Amino acid sequence: MSHIRPRCFQLLCLVLLSLIPHAAAQTIDDLNQRWHDTFVALKNGQQDTADALFKNFNQDLRLYLQKNNADWRVEFLAGSLECQFSQWRSTGAGILRSVLQNNRDLNEKGKAQLSSWLTACTAENHASGSTPDAPTADIIDVAVHVQTPGIHSFGKAGYLDNSEHISGAAVSPLPVNELLARRVPISEPQRALDAALARYPGSVGSTIAGFTVATDKYRGADSASGIGRCLQSYLAPLKQEFEIDRSEYVVTVYAAPWIDQVYDNARKLHGLTLPQGVVAYSVLEDMSLSGLGSPTGCGSLAHELVHLLIKPKFPMSPAWLEEGLASEVAVSSARSDQFEFSWSWRDAMLEQNIALRPTVANLLETSWGDFNAAGREDLPRAAALQAMAAVFIRYLDTQGKLKEVYFAARDQHITADLSQYRSYGEILEKTFVKSADDIDHDFDAWFKKQQASRLKDTPAPRKCNGPVQGPCPDLKQTAN
Ligand SMILES: [Zn+2]
Repeated sequence: MSHIRPRCFQLLCLVLLSLIPHAAAQTIDDLNQRWHDTFVALKNGQQDTADALFKNFNQDLRLYLQKNNADWRVEFLAGSLECQFSQWRSTGAGILRSVLQNNRDLNEKGKAQLSSWLTACTAENHASGSTPDAPTADIIDVAVHVQTPGIHSFGKAGYLDNSEHISGAAVSPLPVNELLARRVPISEPQRALDAALARYPGSVGSTIAGFTVATDKYRGADSASGIGRCLQSYLAPLKQEFEIDRSEYVVTVYAAPWIDQVYDNARKLHGLTLPQGVVAYSVLEDMSLSGLGSPTGCGSLAHELVHLLIKPKFPMSPAWLEEGLASEVAVSSARSDQFEFSWSWRDAMLEQNIALRPTVANLLETSWGDFNAAGREDLPRAAALQAMAAVFIRYLDTQGKLKEVYFAARDQHITADLSQYRSYGEILEKTFVKSADDIDHDFDAWFKKQQASRLKDTPAPRKCNGPVQGPCPDLKQTAN
């Protein structure tokens, strides 16, 4: 993409800028152009012009964000530009830090580039307009090279045998446009059902409450509608408690009766080879869930439903919150308009790996990548982290703080206009009026009390033989 940039002297530029009403940025490319123009002015030492252009960038950014979500690219543009202006630098650094932590799209090269921008922003002798690398002609074009290709799916970790516990984000080679074309508006459920049955050979299906469910023929259409009703029961509490709305598209559910079928479906439907241990996954691009599920046990699918539906209002949610909430929803009782969380196999997992439990402060710093095991030897750490995220959600709930923390993380970590930043640690400390260390001690005491009262009533869980020291819930428990 080529950009024509006017050459002008500083004062003349300022006059021109004030006389020409600039069109509001409609696209990310428009914002990118304003970002680049501001950098050019800074590099040329035209501070007044840069100030005016930065003001324009922020005005356009607000207009853009009225109609679009702030993804990592927009946050990068805003944060890196804020880093160039001394009074905005700490906000810019916070936003860049947040992008590094919460994005799910950047590959290793992208993360490395972002890190160097953050390092430059926080350097003591930061010079305006200085960047780790000269700003490229178009940062958004560059995104092609720093972004993980293909679609992203999130799998729920689970036990399938006595040794594996893996959560994986898999990447599909399927073209994104092909997947987007599968989306069907909620007003056309029959079209969604016909399409789902055609994609899942030997299936029967049903549509209910915005869900289309396809499952194996031998289970019968009643089973499909039962799974739809099971998932439907999660919608009201998601909306009531967390403002997580149903989709404007039909959510297509491929519910398999056994795990081999989940893996087979993943290959055929999405070109995915699932990591061993994953029992369900979701794909935002075609609004689908796939995994083990039955009319009386659709927890794994509900876990994935949280991942799908949280995005419109909370696109850059942190892993500790989204993964923790999805995991607790999966094992909750969904009442008419609220969730009831209780002791589950996640707590037992934390109990068995307590020595590896991250502190609350460390949990709040974790990225999506941290939730995946880097190899077999890393499984216990990942398992302890996943369990901690889930149990911490339950802790927040019992303290009456879950909703407050959720909405503060959504709305105050980075404000809607990307002009203010507050770390998750600051949010938590403000909510509890306590230091993160004190909250960690409280969590520890609360969890031990939970264990003690649990031990009085229930025999200790059987231990697994394998790299993860944990209980061995059967498949039914895992799927809930
Ligand atoms: Zn998940």
